[in-house]
Amino acid sequence: ASKSRQLHIVFLPQLAHGILIPTVDMARLCARHGVKVTIATTPLNAHLFAKTIQRDRESGFEISTYIIKFPSAEVGLPEGCENASSLTSQEMQTKFLKAANLFQQPLEQLLAELRPDCLVAGMMFTWATDVASKFGIPRLVFHGTSCFSISILDSVIRHAPYKKIATDFEFFDVPGLPDQIKMTKMQLPDFIKEEEGSERRKMLNEALESERTSFGVIVNSFYELEPAYREHYSKVMGKKAWQVGPVSLCNKDSEDKAERGNVASIDRHECLRWLASKKPNSVLYICFGSLSRFSAAQLNEMAKGLEASGQNFIWVVRKVNDEDKEEWLPEGFEERMEGKGLIIRGWAPQVLILDHDAVGGFMTHCGWNSTLESITAGVPMVTWPLQAEQFFNEKLIVDVLKIGVCTGAKEWSRWADDTKIIVTSEDIERAVTQLMVGEEGEKMRNRTRELKDMARRVVEEGGSSYSDLNALLDELRLNCLPK
Ligand code: UDP
Repeated sequence: ASKSRQLHIVFLPQLAHGILIPTVDMARLCARHGVKVTIATTPLNAHLFAKTIQRDRESGFEISTYIIKFPSAEVGLPEGCENASSLTSQEMQTKFLKAANLFQQPLEQLLAELRPDCLVAGMMFTWATDVASKFGIPRLVFHGTSCFSISILDSVIRHAPYKKIATDFEFFDVPGLPDQIKMTKMQLPDFIKEEEGSERRKMLNEALESERTSFGVIVNSFYELEPAYREHYSKVMGKKAWQVGPVSLCNKDSEDKAERGNVASIDRHECLRWLASKKPNSVLYICFGSLSRFSAAQLNEMAKGLEASGQNFIWVVRKVNDEDKEEWLPEGFEERMEGKGLIIRGWAPQVLILDHDAVGGFMTHCGWNSTLESITAGVPMVTWPLQAEQFFNEKLIVDVLKIGVCTGAKEWSRWADDTKIIVTSEDIERAVTQLMVGEEGEKMRNRTRELKDMARRVVEEGGSSYSDLNALLDELRLNCLPK
């Protein structure tokens, strides 16, 4: 394409791994389709994917980062708190959300300087659609979740079915969806249940309005995974959606997979060697995303449940306070688990692990990326949702796709205190055994493998996600470039 026909897209990813990682993958995909790409983010977040971007540049792709300072002092957060994963309380989270507003001015400066053709921004930047239109360019929303979850959220906000329910754990129907979906109040995000006019509710409304007036939304999922919900989404919300996932598949080699989104706390060769010593489908991988921190009591319970299950495992651990001593492990646990269990303290090379033949199950918090990465690797799940839309994703995994077993977690546990146990060791043992041993687990594994094959086909030429991405880029070229 001639230079004048080259699109330039600026990405402003939300500052949390769960959206930052897939947004960067999406940006890299666009670069592979001949688009010039600029990722605007803060210094510490840019550092998380600097090596990957460098490698892409060396391969000749037009991709670069534009640094925006994080307004720590202005919102009263300590230096270095630039990513949602460093927040340890509700109070810090509120300040962090406020910081999103202070990105408007530097972003306007960027748009004035670079004059791109399109802006892709996360939902937390509620002013992004207005700013883009000020510069005469379209704004797209990058959604960190599925059409399934967006549809549930929309129905719950629109119809407020929980208002008729007296108790916390009683199930109610979520109206108007393609399947019968049942939820309880305890599974819903707090901000939905808050009164109109509360600060968080106002922010949600602004984000939804900004999405409603945007050019459309990009969803990291694929049509064949949730066809009824993609159609429901377009019909009910009347918004254009492009399903371009799984975007994680743009990471082809083990270096890319291991470095996705952070520096792993284990050498990738060591990790692969450990996995190579295990039989196919014999290892359970346990990880709860980038935000979760468990109480010491809950970790102790988890260790007991894992040991009782008798399965091999790789367990990624982050505790309530990183400084705390590790008295939460049952006595002699690590010695007994030698060779059987690998504990990774910090950040795991998740996609690399999931893609290994030795891994036969994933105990997950049902974050959307983890869910999709598990499906893409053909690995069925043990579900333990913690917060956000993770209880919605659990419904998709267990009830709709039938590729997971519940641990039975019934309520949110984002800021766990040091004594709380949400899931008992007996429930952990039961769920793990059900998935890893026996016929039911095998059936789930087979179903997930079919989805894996599908996921890999859709991103190839002629596949639905490949076509959706091309359709999106064509539409942008038509709308944004000089004729
Ligand atoms: N991740 C990883 N190593 C870890 C923890 C998380 O690579 O130790 C990655 C994971 O592969 C996924 C993302 O971080 O891409 C987490 O996103 P998800 O939506 O699953 O959960 P969140 O962190 O948003 O709760």
